[in-house]
Amino acid sequence: MNRYDYHQPGTIEEAVGLMAILDDAKYIAGGTDVMVLIRQKKLKPKNLISLRNIKDLVYIDTAKGLRFGAATTHSAIDNHDIIRRNYSALTDATSHLGSLQIRNVATIGGNICNAAPSADTACPLLVLDAVVSVVGPKGARDIAVDDFFQGPGKTALAHGELVKGLSIPSFGENTGSAYIKHTRRQAMDLPILGVATRITLSMKNGAEVRCRDMFCTIDSISNILAKLKEEELKIDEARIAMGVVAPRPMRAKKAEAVLTGKVVSPELFEEAGNVAASEAQPRDSIRGEAWYRSEMIKVLVKRALIKSMDRIIRPDEAIYPERLW
Ligand SMILES: Cc1cc2nc3c(=O)[nH]c(=O)nc-3n(C[C@H](O)[C@H](O)[C@H](O)COP(=O)(O)OP(=O)(O)OC[C@H]3O[C@@H](n4cnc5c(N)ncnc54)[C@H](O)[C@@H]3O)c2cc1C
Repeated sequence: MNRYDYHQPGTIEEAVGLMAILDDAKYIAGGTDVMVLIRQKKLKPKNLISLRNIKDLVYIDTAKGLRFGAATTHSAIDNHDIIRRNYSALTDATSHLGSLQIRNVATIGGNICNAAPSADTACPLLVLDAVVSVVGPKGARDIAVDDFFQGPGKTALAHGELVKGLSIPSFGENTGSAYIKHTRRQAMDLPILGVATRITLSMKNGAEVRCRDMFCTIDSISNILAKLKEEELKIDEARIAMGVVAPRPMRAKKAEAVLTGKVVSPELFEEAGNVAASEAQPRDSIRGEAWYRSEMIKVLVKRALIKSMDRIIRPDEAIYPERLW
């Protein structure tokens, strides 16, 4: 059995200081990745530095955009009404990650630092333009989340650095986002493919697009988009991110360019899906074959874009039944 010493610092400075002096040490937050690796003997640290007692790593602040601490649990994010409404892609991910027991202890910092290509919060953070704040022996710095992921299990963190928190800009009422996790079963499964999208409509028309009458709450989103076609809703900014299609979670930048400045239509969303599929480099794995992932990117990008639009149109989705897609 692997033996290690367990350290419980109370501050960020103390944790970084311990990492600088201890031999073969590893940070541990919820432990849902670390302890599995230790049990599997794939990881044999001599020292574990727990982040659980560091109060400064656990917070959610929505005063200006969204800021949260690295040791915030998926459940805490999932239960936050403002995040659910304004940053829906993120709660789409946290609500389907692992089981309730996992979500109650596992942290968002752990999810991105583990840097699995299948990490559920990665794609939402990419489309929400998140910035990762880190601190280490040489001081503090910010890293755009797109630069943070470097490969399977690899991040931009230098030795000894820890993630302090993440921040996401505030988006107006004219923004909607979504994450779709494609799995073989409803719960406790890693994605075959994950797709997140964000659409920000140009302000002029954005305010016009909300549900105005009853038809909007019950009609299909495809019908609504067809009816809205004549209003020429333009996309100001678009983001598409895909997981499990490359060594790291990636943005589909060519597909984003297809959408930017264009008028919203189902045909445009379909074109973006096709372009996104051409940008991915999926491979065969136990969860799905490359050709299947490519085909599903086309379907899920279109679906996630439609869902993002729906969230602009019906921001109070929670009070209406979820549409069928
Ligand atoms: C049964 C089960 C189901 C799961 N289901 C899913 C799923 O559906 N989707 C999914 O994405 N994941 C899933 N996971 C994986 C895991 O739960 C998540 O990745 C989780 O978010 C990890 O967070 P943690 O706090 O437990 O990380 P830990 O295990 O504590 O740490 C993970 C890694 O991050 C490092 N780390 C942690 N915090 C910091 C920090 N602040 N700064 C620097 N480094 C840090 C650690 O050193 C380690 O390398 C599952 C795991 C289990 C056991």
